[in-house]
Amino acid sequence: MTKSSHSLPNLDRSWYTQSIEQTLDLLDTNSDVGLSTSEVELRSRLYGTNEIEEVAGRAAWEILFDQFKDLMLLMLVGVAVVSGVLDLIDLQSGGAAAGEIPFKDTIAIMLIVILNGVLGYLQESRAEKALAALKSLSAPKVRVIRDSEPVEVDAKDLVPGDVMLLEAGAQVAADGQLIEVSNLQVSESALTGEAKAVNKQATAEGLSEETSLGDRIGSIFTGTEVTHGRAKAVVTGIGMHTELGKIASLLQSVEAEDTPLQQRMNQLSKTLVTGSLVLVVLVIVAGVIKSGGFNRFRELVEVSLSMAVAVVPEGLPAVITVTLALGTQRMVRRQALIRKLTAVETLGSVDTICSDKTGTLTQNKMVVQEVVTQGKRLKVTGEGYNPTGNFFNDEESIIPQEYPELQALLISGVLCNDAFLKYQRQASSQEAKGIAKAAEEQDGAGEWMILGDPTEGALLSLAGKASFEQESLSHQLIRVGEFPFSSTRKRMSVICESIRSRGVEGAINVPEIIPPSPYVMFTKGSPELVLELCQQFKLGDQIVALTPQHREQVLLENDRMAAQGLRVLGFAYKPMEFVPPEEEESATEQDLIWLGLVGMWDAPRTEAKIAVSKSRTAGIRPLMITGDHQLTARAIAQQLGIAEDGERVITGRELERLGAEELEREVESVSVYARVSPEHKLRIVQALQKQGKFVAMTGDGVNDAPALKQADIGIAMGVTGTDVSKEASDMVLLDDNFATIVAATEEGRVVYANIRRFIKYILGSNVGELITIGAAPLMGLPDVPLSPLQILWMNLVTDGLPALALAVEPPEPNVMTRAPISPNESVFARGLGAYIIRIGLIFALITIVLMWWAFQNHEHWRTMVFTSLCIAQMGHALAVRSNYQLTLELNPFSNPYLLASVAVTTALQLLLIYVPALRDFFGTEILTVSELLICLGFSSLIFVWVELEKLVMRWFQARR
Ligand code: ATP
Repeated sequence: MTKSSHSLPNLDRSWYTQSIEQTLDLLDTNSDVGLSTSEVELRSRLYGTNEIEEVAGRAAWEILFDQFKDLMLLMLVGVAVVSGVLDLIDLQSGGAAAGEIPFKDTIAIMLIVILNGVLGYLQESRAEKALAALKSLSAPKVRVIRDSEPVEVDAKDLVPGDVMLLEAGAQVAADGQLIEVSNLQVSESALTGEAKAVNKQATAEGLSEETSLGDRIGSIFTGTEVTHGRAKAVVTGIGMHTELGKIASLLQSVEAEDTPLQQRMNQLSKTLVTGSLVLVVLVIVAGVIKSGGFNRFRELVEVSLSMAVAVVPEGLPAVITVTLALGTQRMVRRQALIRKLTAVETLGSVDTICSDKTGTLTQNKMVVQEVVTQGKRLKVTGEGYNPTGNFFNDEESIIPQEYPELQALLISGVLCNDAFLKYQRQASSQEAKGIAKAAEEQDGAGEWMILGDPTEGALLSLAGKASFEQESLSHQLIRVGEFPFSSTRKRMSVICESIRSRGVEGAINVPEIIPPSPYVMFTKGSPELVLELCQQFKLGDQIVALTPQHREQVLLENDRMAAQGLRVLGFAYKPMEFVPPEEEESATEQDLIWLGLVGMWDAPRTEAKIAVSKSRTAGIRPLMITGDHQLTARAIAQQLGIAEDGERVITGRELERLGAEELEREVESVSVYARVSPEHKLRIVQALQKQGKFVAMTGDGVNDAPALKQADIGIAMGVTGTDVSKEASDMVLLDDNFATIVAATEEGRVVYANIRRFIKYILGSNVGELITIGAAPLMGLPDVPLSPLQILWMNLVTDGLPALALAVEPPEPNVMTRAPISPNESVFARGLGAYIIRIGLIFALITIVLMWWAFQNHEHWRTMVFTSLCIAQMGHALAVRSNYQLTLELNPFSNPYLLASVAVTTALQLLLIYVPALRDFFGTEILTVSELLICLGFSSLIFVWVELEKLVMRWFQARR
């Protein structure tokens, strides 16, 4: 019976003063059964969701205000003010042209400035929202007991009274009181600032009211991290009713740092603004000298205003933001979740990928194929995690019950285990029930699944094949202590109390193999390490001393299986008279009795093999860094193409003996690292970086965080990764798949190539405009060829729309066949700066010739200059799509947006000339058909020029 909702307690009480019994009672929950689904629904209505309300970052007005700090926008404001003053003088002196709208340029420029600011504001707040949405995709999951079953739920769905299961690497998602712990250590630095992890205990008695946060050893808090051990805890506080919630409003949100691209862009604005100011001064000085005095000063000021507007690429910031946002979206579609925006641009620079083996390069679907107990190699049949199958000795089926050491091994595999095996019907997950062979037989419309580590799941399914069931075994041998698995220890032990010692009558027939001692310790782990801890082995019903020959034989068997690519685990046990204290780990894990080996197959992912070869073609070197045995690692690495036949493998032990410089030399040639610990990973990344490599590194465990932070791109596993590793990463693989890393680097390259493409497109035309305007007074022309308004139109509309379309340009065929680009390279490197200057000069040359000729022969020379500059950019947009391929060779429809934007922009330009109202506003004049055709002819020269450049470059390349 549960209490009615109104009798549930207020959460804001000092739970630590209660004993755990009282807490469970107050919250009306049970540590074994947990809450029922209906109760969870009720409580969730009553208490709300488990979320910390967002701490307000920058206020909206602050984000808006920040937009106007940009140097180029400030320059535009300056232009608007000067232009306004000139108009005012005209008005007062009656010199304004009839029909002219006063302050037109000032208003237009200010509108653009405001529009740019508002757009920047919208994008920034959208980007923040999008990032928040992406973050929620990787929101932590929590394992809880509900309806007596362990299930995984979203952290936000926790309710008070839920029973949480925590293990190393988990981020604590709610405040709670500990029910049971095993070697639990928690890092509370997020809350208390204390860097050292604290030991936690389940406290039978409540603590005194005055106990400070750091001393509440029976409590755990939201936002802290489990660094070691495991625990069961009851949720006492969620959302804003947690210690973190209480201080959340005090926390300041961290200022986002500029990405390298933003820094480059800031640099660019400074260069452009300074450059244009210098040019303006030059033009004014030259103009004054040429006209022999200040009689044309007013005109020169107008020219400078236009030049200042021309130099600012008003559309560029928007296009860059959109490109990055689209890039992140494309990456998510390919299962790569970007956590730091910097990664989008820098992924393309990755030249070394260090990957885990299990789960990333392999499928992480373990199937036991072989068991070796003293003297016998037993083959195991069966499919997936289905606990049905047979044991064979020399092609002959055997009855496991006749082999005591096999039984002992299988039992130890079940008990030294934190996974659960369950039959999941496809219809509804609610129907899943423990090991329900009956259910499977009934409908067969589901599959056997595991909750937890696949390595352990495979052991449960193996034991099921000999009819050992987890549920009944764990009732006969109750876990009372454990030394948990860690990647550094590479083993795990549990201590179980045999219920016979309690004198329970009618206990299930525990096989003979369990010694008649009150307690037994079961250990499993890396065979070499576990064997070192053993002094004896089990042979039938006897316990025999382990001789050096026996040891050698076991290690040979281990190597034989590992060389086939099998993942091998060793098993041992030890009878005990009492439960040792937790800190006596190494003293307890001694003098064990060896049981045997289990070899499981974890097939390499087929897509990983393709991705490895793809990354090689792209100049990216894949490395395998694994905790597994060197022979297993080498066999899998060879199958995937990461290592050559007979290539050297470095083990963790060897690595420890290498000095920093030696390691730096080794990493150049060695691609497989086995039996490594997380600390070794950090050293490998550092050595690679010393060699100038740009490294992406995967990790999943709590101890991988330092290596992930050190790597240039830290990659966490979305499915199997711990919260701590995700928090330390730049990118999360939603499918834990190596191929996804390669796909993401490809997207990164495409994003960077597109950014370069539209920068060269936009800036080339800006330089052209600038020179054309500056040339006019020097050629003695009476008017400024382009008004600020017309320039704004070009920079925003006629440049902006095609640039946006270029941002979604599909990848060039060579994206993954060329070497990665250095992350330190300037955007203008590899000829881009030279291209901008060159194409700017060509633009200017063509326009100046047209301007001169049109000025002599046509009335509408200014509109002709304006129109041909706009149309020339259309040709440029088409030509700039590829660096190597001619436009004719490209599929025109592979980027339909570009075709559409060119058509729309050309139409808009014509409207500006032929619609009277627009004509008045933009100060254009009607062009005759022949004038229009002349413009078209001149503008097409740009297209022809860029295409010729490609041909010349190809010719040079062919000759080389
Ligand atoms: P990778 O680092 O590529 O993911 P891995 O999964 O083998 O490889 P770890 O999880 O660090 O790396 O495991 C290292 C070794 O520890 C394994 O090779 C195995 O011998 C042992 N091991 C793995 N899982 C367990 C476990 N659940 N219990 C006991 N020992 C284990």
